[in-house]
Amino acid sequence: MKTITAYKCTNCGQVMYPRHERCLNCNEREFKEIYPTKKGKLLTYTVVNELPWGIDERARVLGVVEFDNGIRALGLIKSDRVKIGMKLTSGWDEVRYMNGVRVYGLTFS
Ligand SMILES: [Zn+2]
Repeated sequence: MKTITAYKCTNCGQVMYPRHERCLNCNEREFKEIYPTKKGKLLTYTVVNELPWGIDERARVLGVVEFDNGIRALGLIKSDRVKIGMKLTSGWDEVRYMNGVRVYGLTFS
């Protein structure tokens, strides 16, 4: 499943998402595109209680997940129980319906 694209430094192996002009570790300019693995680990999360108009839920959980290959990304946590360090499976699902358009994003469950 290709969802997001991350960048791995060809010199030192540093993984960056989103892309930077130069490697944050060694200043290299060459990167290899890599993609998230299916599973990852929850590093941190926050509960958002003030949601924009049009989202018919009381709260949402946003979390930063580190995939098994080192990519870190923010996504919507769909699990009922949330605990730092828990294993999650990534998906690419509708996260919002806005002006008649379905908006997709990273989800974890
Ligand atoms: Zn580097």
